[in-house]
Amino acid sequence: MLLTITTEHKPATDLSFLLHKHPDRFQSFDLSFGQAHVFYPEVTEDRCTACLLLDVDPVGMVRGKTRDQSFLLGHYVNDRPYVASSFLSVAISQVFRTAMGGRCQERPELVTTPIPLTARLEVLPVRGGEGFVQRMFEPLGYTVEAVRHPLDERFPEWGESPYYSVTITGTKTLAELLTHLYVLIPVFDNEKHYFVGDDELEKLLAKGAGWLASHPEKEQITRRYLKNRSSLYREALARLVEEDLTEPDSETSELPSPLEESLEKPLSLNDQRHGAVLAALRASGARTVLDLGCGEGKLLRELLQDRQFEQIVGMDVSIRSLEIAQKRLKLDRLPDWQAERLKLIHGSLIYRDKRLEGFDAAAIVEVIEHLDPPRLSALERTLFEFARPQTVVLTTPNREYNVMWESLPAGQFRHADHRFEWTRQEFQDWAMRVAGQYGYAVRFLPIGPEDEKVGSPTQMGVFTTSEREASHEHAGLRERIRG
Ligand code: SAH
Repeated sequence: MLLTITTEHKPATDLSFLLHKHPDRFQSFDLSFGQAHVFYPEVTEDRCTACLLLDVDPVGMVRGKTRDQSFLLGHYVNDRPYVASSFLSVAISQVFRTAMGGRCQERPELVTTPIPLTARLEVLPVRGGEGFVQRMFEPLGYTVEAVRHPLDERFPEWGESPYYSVTITGTKTLAELLTHLYVLIPVFDNEKHYFVGDDELEKLLAKGAGWLASHPEKEQITRRYLKNRSSLYREALARLVEEDLTEPDSETSELPSPLEESLEKPLSLNDQRHGAVLAALRASGARTVLDLGCGEGKLLRELLQDRQFEQIVGMDVSIRSLEIAQKRLKLDRLPDWQAERLKLIHGSLIYRDKRLEGFDAAAIVEVIEHLDPPRLSALERTLFEFARPQTVVLTTPNREYNVMWESLPAGQFRHADHRFEWTRQEFQDWAMRVAGQYGYAVRFLPIGPEDEKVGSPTQMGVFTTSEREASHEHAGLRERIRG
């Protein structure tokens, strides 16, 4: 298996500095599954090419493996030695570790300079065809050329093989190019991944930092990279969503900002909000409830104290918040019968999630304003179309009230991570549209001190489905509604 990297950057010999491999030598490296060789077939000031040749030893691969890896036993005869696969990724990360990490002591400025680069993968097995290759590399700024090979040139009637020669060209830093190859090469192939383990998720997220979250094919990439292991896949996506939502320097955006806290403190608005939500949930008669975007679990604690709620599930996209919630609720120290009532799950509201189906009610408190408009429409479907609880209790800030806080500069939101804050009219328009679309009725309630002109600081919508009456045993009520 051969990977070649070429540059016409001037002087092209810089490539050898970046790769940390001497241009005049042929160097070999022992890997657990074979050998890798690095050499330069052309070295001039105008053009320089480096090759990584991988020599996979299919017999050596099997030797000394545990039973867990016994899938390899049937693989004495296979295409692995000849095609670009996860083995090549491993080789890239080991042989070009320093280059991939973007380090170059002698010429630090070189590392951060995008230069014209071409990479060619001699034999890449692709499930999904040429279009798939383009969809993977083009969004990252490469031009792509893919040539498909026939199964056997002597027997054209046998048709096409799944193997392509792929050339990608772009102006990139070398570290970017190597990282893109490292993550994407295994994605093309669907063979058992040589190196999938739980830490693979961490590797993917680390190597994908800064580009994967915004890649239009991130779901495919993640699913295939993690070889369809749904638990890892779900976690990866949620964390990518989080990365995408969070500004790099506002890691703690899910926590109340000092500003929001200081504004709201004198009213203990947070307590009033949870009180109002709790009251609405109680009144709905719900026995099973979701707290969506549960954060650090304040509402969960109150729900736990009320025995009306037999099953309580808190979900959040932020693992950190869930960890804090788990500690605060002392979940590990609750008696079994209590602990069994409550479950914390990690997930994102912008993806349909079977675990959210079949609940009587859902609370979603101060969450929607953290989502950009396209994500908000995804959330609408997740919640009202798929999870479809009979009651949804939803709160969001009332922007009109912001003028009441002198310390809040005009036009500024209460929290740096808020994507919007709505007026009462805007919230009601949205809520009525959603209710109408998904077959709910909605009523509105103010939370916190009410001002005649600008209303209350928080607004709450209580959505109920008409199915609610049908599913409850309130036959009399049903009669009355019909009558
Ligand atoms: N409901 C809590 C926390 C509100 S802060 C309370 O009333 O105190 C908003 C919360 O929404 C954060 O914990 C944040 O991590 C979570 N969140 C943001 N986007 C989300 C998404 N797409 N899916 C699930 N939770 C999300």
